[in-house]
Amino acid sequence: MKKAPITNGDGEISALYASKMVPAYAKMDESEKAAYRRNQLLRIVRYAKAHSPLYADLYAGLDDDFKLSDLPVTTKNELKERFDDWVTDRSVTMDGIMEYIKDQNNNGKLFLGKYLVFRTSGSTGSPAVTLYDRGMIHVSNALDWERGFPTLQVRNQYFRRRCKFATVCANPGFNLGSGMLIYGKSVNIIKRFGSKLFDIFDPLPELVAELNRFSPAMFSGYPSAMTVLAKEQLAGRLHISPLLVVSCGEYLSDDSKKTLEAAFGRRPINAYLSTESGSVASECPFGHMHVNDDWVVMEPVDRENRPVATGRADKWLLTTMGNFIQPYIRYEVTDRIVYHDEGCPCGRTSPWVEVEGRTDDTLRFRGKDGEVEIIPWLIYIVLTNMPEVRSFQALLHDENRLELRIAADDRVSTFEKAKAVVDETLAKHGVRAHIYLSDTPPGPDKSGKFIHVRNALKSEPQP
Ligand SMILES: [Zn+2]
Repeated sequence: MKKAPITNGDGEISALYASKMVPAYAKMDESEKAAYRRNQLLRIVRYAKAHSPLYADLYAGLDDDFKLSDLPVTTKNELKERFDDWVTDRSVTMDGIMEYIKDQNNNGKLFLGKYLVFRTSGSTGSPAVTLYDRGMIHVSNALDWERGFPTLQVRNQYFRRRCKFATVCANPGFNLGSGMLIYGKSVNIIKRFGSKLFDIFDPLPELVAELNRFSPAMFSGYPSAMTVLAKEQLAGRLHISPLLVVSCGEYLSDDSKKTLEAAFGRRPINAYLSTESGSVASECPFGHMHVNDDWVVMEPVDRENRPVATGRADKWLLTTMGNFIQPYIRYEVTDRIVYHDEGCPCGRTSPWVEVEGRTDDTLRFRGKDGEVEIIPWLIYIVLTNMPEVRSFQALLHDENRLELRIAADDRVSTFEKAKAVVDETLAKHGVRAHIYLSDTPPGPDKSGKFIHVRNALKSEPQP
């Protein structure tokens, strides 16, 4: 194979390298794969040590024959505290980013002409910022194209339907779904005409009408939002015929799976991706989510960060090998997983995982004409987008009482603002709620899982 330049001159993975190496990896034998992975790891560790003052401190004295387990585990809070030292470009600062994201129009545009900015609340409840360099974007696109389809035949059919891609996510806010889509449209002509964002903040009848007009070949998004639309399809108001139904960003429950399959006549495909990691795992035709181990290292561990060989793990450590601006190396991810290495009939040799993460609830309010379902993301996004909110939880009780737990410098004034935006969001869906500030601070539940949006009704006696 002709050699592709690895980087584009800015220390980022080049588009050519990503698009060549993602398919090439699948054809390597096991020893070639191992050597390739080692090189990928070496490259990011060396780069981090040379360009990030934080990693220079952490890796002082480290030479090139390190074992992955020699490197210290990193956590969100520790990295966030030294954000300006963590990133590998000295012109990037948290202050600069905060200023940048004040303007919603910057969503999907490159910060400093180089980086996409995403803001998350994350599974531990405290907000964070992740940047992607262009190399990370190339890697994500290559993984989507090479591993996002169950078979080549489906990919060809998708191409014949002009790659019409609909994603149901939130437009306000610097989130992965909207940012990548808006950016993709600005640089790629197929995406400009072929992909469309369906904003969960729009009223349901409008979403249905727009989707009918667009007629996507691939339908993707948060499963909670897609399930609401699947019910519209079952009711005969929505009539789309996607080749692929892809669920991402949230836990896909068995109930949602059944509803999506009943509505669209296809088993939904599950993609494990997060803002920090990009695409961690892609599903094969046997329904197994195989780790993209050429670009991501997944180390399953127990609560004390001791390695777990296979089976259930309390959390895992993430190392991304395609994003050079903000390296995540042995970074703690608190999703519980079940890790498999027993092989799979599909022929992919990488381990596969089941994820027990993201379990926010769809909230069931009483509206004028009966029950109204509000997907958790509507609340999650508006509150995550308020810089004053350090952490939050929303719990729905009976009689449309919505309890807000908020951590902020000024809790009362932050609550007033939060109440106004949540009220406005609910009103668009014909819901009026009694929103009140809770004295309880946001925190994890008994199992240690931080759930942002919860239906407290289900644990209370029903009338
Ligand atoms: Zn498989």
